Amino acid sequence: MAYAVKECFLTLQGEGVQAGSRAVFLRFAGCNLWSGREADRATAACNFCDTDFVGTDGPGGGKFADAQSLAQQVEGLWGEGADNRLVVITGGEPMLQLDSALIDALHERGFRVAVESNGTIAAVPGIDWLCISPKAGTEVVQRSGNELKLVWPQPGIDPVDLEGWQFPHFLVQPMDCEEREAAVQAAIDLAMERPRWRLSLQAHKVVGLP
Ligand code: SF4
Repeated sequence: MAYAVKECFLTLQGEGVQAGSRAVFLRFAGCNLWSGREADRATAACNFCDTDFVGTDGPGGGKFADAQSLAQQVEGLWGEGADNRLVVITGGEPMLQLDSALIDALHERGFRVAVESNGTIAAVPGIDWLCISPKAGTEVVQRSGNELKLVWPQPGIDPVDLEGWQFPHFLVQPMDCEEREAAVQAAIDLAMERPRWRLSLQAHKVVGLP
C-alpha cells in the first residue's frame, strides 16, 4: 500500500503521558472529520483543529510506495542508537492509512509505535501506545487504549460518559483557541471536580518545538 505523509520529523512528544520523550513524528495527510480547508471549517464534524494535514509538502513528507520505504524514512530521522525508539503516528486521522504492514516494518526496526486518533475508525492491531481524542458529535468506535485525551471544553461531550471507557489514563487538555484562558480554567475545573482526569498541557508550544 502507498502512504501520503504530510510531514515526518524528529522532535520531543509535547502532549500526554509520554510528553518529553524523543520521538519521530509521522503525520499522515487527510482526516475524515474535516477537509483541512478553512472554507469548510464551520460545517466540519470537527472544527477546532490546530493542525495542517493537507498535502504531502511538509518537512520529510511525500508519497511513499510501501511500508518499508516509509519505515526507512522514520529510522533515518531517528539516526543511530537503538535505545527507546519511538514513533508517534498522527494526522489528520492516521487510521485512514495505518496498516499492519507499516506497524510490522517499524517494529522490525525496534520502534515502539504510538498513535493519536479521533477514535471514529477501529484501531489496527499491534499498536504499542494508543491515544484517543474524541470529538463532539462523532461516533467513537475505539473506546479502549492507553490514554484518552479530551480537548476541553467541547459542548456536546459529557466527560462522565467517557469515564466508563477502557483507558488507564484520562487527560483533559485546554483547547487552543481565542478564549484560551477560559479553556485552561475549564480544564482545571474538570480535573479538580473529577479526579479521574489529569490536566495535560501542550508543552511543545510552550518551549517552541514543532
Ligand atoms: S479529528 Fe483531529 S486531525 Fe481531524 S480535524 Fe479534528 S483535530 Fe484535526
